[in-house]
Amino acid sequence: MQNVVLDSGADGELALALVSTIRHDGQGGVADDFEADEHVAAWIEARWPAARVDAAKVRELRRAARAAFAATVSPAPPSRADTAKLMTTATAGRLLTEAIAGLGLTHEVDVSSGSVEVRRTSTSRGEQLVLGSLALAVTDFLTGPLAVRLRSCQAPRCVRYFVQSHGKQQWCKQSCGNRARVARHAARQH
Ligand SMILES: [Zn+2]
Repeated sequence: MQNVVLDSGADGELALALVSTIRHDGQGGVADDFEADEHVAAWIEARWPAARVDAAKVRELRRAARAAFAATVSPAPPSRADTAKLMTTATAGRLLTEAIAGLGLTHEVDVSSGSVEVRRTSTSRGEQLVLGSLALAVTDFLTGPLAVRLRSCQAPRCVRYFVQSHGKQQWCKQSCGNRARVARHAARQH
């Protein structure tokens, strides 16, 4: 069977996509794109065509990912969506470890082109490949060069994690900054 090559998730794209399935619903509450099993299946299918994965396991891995995100931004507060329901760091570490173990990773080293290249490959398929790839994307990102710039947006109602594009960026997007300024102004009036 052909080995699957696992690209680095250090750019955060996949990890952020996973945690961002919990989002502001536009009306002051929190929406969960993984609420229905078929929505989880569609999200997975878009990235791993034909893979069948237990939706509960994907949600559990997302909780582990969000706990790892929260640990990374600490001592700053986690996303507001998590304040009351964070998984313990011990459980998060165990779930991520187990998921990655399911990949049975091989590191293929190539020194033939004048530099050292390492390709990570897996023989796993289906659920093991999906859960392992997600866990690896999370750990690649949170141990990579962008992790120091990860922030949770603390604007009113926002629950997003984002990567700062410059050192002073405090809000995930302009509209959040505007909302925060309005709220601060209103608080001063009272
Ligand atoms: Zn925001």
